Amino acid sequence: MAGSEAAWQAANAGVPVVIHEMRPQTGTFAHQTGNLAEMVCSNSFRSDDDEQNAVGLLHWEMRAADGLIMAMADRHRLPAGGALAVDREAFAEAVTAALRAHPGIRVEPGEIDHLPQSGQWIIATGPLTSASLGAAIAAETGEDRLAFFDAIAPIVHADSIDMEKAWFQSRYDKGETEEERRAYLNCPMGRDQYEAFIDALLAAEKTEFHEGETAGYFDGCLPIEVMAERGRETLRHGPMKPVGLTNPHAPDVKAHAIVQLRRDNALGTLFNIVGFQTKMKYGAQTDVFKMIPGLENARFARLGGIHRNTFLNSPTLLDAQMRLRSRPNIRFAGQVTGVEGYVESAAMGLIAGRMAAAEILGQPLPDVPQDSAMGALIHHITGGAEAKTFQPMNVNFGLFRPLDGLRGGRRGRKERYKGYTDRAKAAWTEWLAQAHAPA
Ligand SMILES: Cc1cc2nc3c(=O)[nH]c(=O)nc-3n(C[C@H](O)[C@H](O)[C@H](O)COP(=O)(O)OP(=O)(O)OC[C@H]3O[C@@H](n4cnc5c(N)ncnc54)[C@H](O)[C@@H]3O)c2cc1C
Repeated sequence: MAGSEAAWQAANAGVPVVIHEMRPQTGTFAHQTGNLAEMVCSNSFRSDDDEQNAVGLLHWEMRAADGLIMAMADRHRLPAGGALAVDREAFAEAVTAALRAHPGIRVEPGEIDHLPQSGQWIIATGPLTSASLGAAIAAETGEDRLAFFDAIAPIVHADSIDMEKAWFQSRYDKGETEEERRAYLNCPMGRDQYEAFIDALLAAEKTEFHEGETAGYFDGCLPIEVMAERGRETLRHGPMKPVGLTNPHAPDVKAHAIVQLRRDNALGTLFNIVGFQTKMKYGAQTDVFKMIPGLENARFARLGGIHRNTFLNSPTLLDAQMRLRSRPNIRFAGQVTGVEGYVESAAMGLIAGRMAAAEILGQPLPDVPQDSAMGALIHHITGGAEAKTFQPMNVNFGLFRPLDGLRGGRRGRKERYKGYTDRAKAAWTEWLAQAHAPA
């Protein structure tokens, strides 16, 4: 996805491009063909609503930038209500044909197994980056900066948490500053609530692992339902332990268990549920997590998951131009940068392709506006996200700077989302005009 879009954008800017693709000679457990832009699982680009949905807005921005992935998705669209579903085979074949037919692009089969010293490169090898290239990247960045699995705890919009029940406090009030002492949001549970929660966890529908997917992940990040299977008290002694915290709403009541949420972005608009990585199906997750006092009306920016996924600790490794700080001739794009999803990956390819071409042509691009969906994502992965707990992210309105003067919470949502998308479209349109203007 990302590599295809990057090549298209750079070639259209007038820079000759070589695409190196290892399939079909070297396969992955998920890909089935040798086509570029193969969709490995669902055939959906999710919501196409560019007024009320962040991924729909990203569609809009990519169309406005003459994106190949969106053009081919539109051409091979299938009926799917408000979602953009595509005929996956026709789509991938059309992307591949368009790239092969482009006079500025050459497709060279074969695996790249090292980080090249010279030339301008965009590494867009995705969640299933080959082992040899993964090892080369880890050698450059340090083993601890390249993950091979994501273990995503659900992420909640801060303004949907009930603060009549939850409170800010770090365990044992630890921290040098007031901000650190209030770094966590706590949701208390009584005994009956805890028992009902464990029952629901055990009964919930789970997703199976793909073949070859599990090796090596279980060490540090057990799914909560696996912890619950090991014993009904395990969570109470793990991520839900009720110690070192006092509930200001009921100081005399000792909680039986406490769920903690931690800030997930610098804006403070998103919180992740600490230690709650899970393989529960999405529908089950929302049902189970809404049983947590304070989260009854939670809106989820993303749900939890555990997958095979190669991705960088981008906030520490990449500069604002998506270049590896230690090797600026190498850019990264797509899911390997810590975005999640076909659309987000293609979007990062679009921008990386334009950035690389602009650098080669000596016509640097203005900064991508943070108020666009594209800019909100780039800003998140290259600096806005908490580096210590960095996990892949879908585009969502929690990544956007809040808009002044608009109502928060569920009631103001429609107006707020329209405000975000209007602001984003104006910023993106202006950026595209500047980016196209002759130097
Ligand atoms: C099993 C699975 C299911 C997924 N399901 C969905 C889903 O349903 N919906 C969704 O939105 N997202 C899904 N994703 C997440 C992700 O968005 C997609 O994987 C998306 O394709 C990522 O785009 P990308 O361009 O970053 O990587 P890819 O589309 O995977 O492209 C990377 C390319 O690099 C090639 N490559 C890898 N290493 C090398 C190398 N060393 N040399 C040369 N070529 C190499 C690969 O063959 C591949 O063609 C899924 C991921 C996985 C692993």
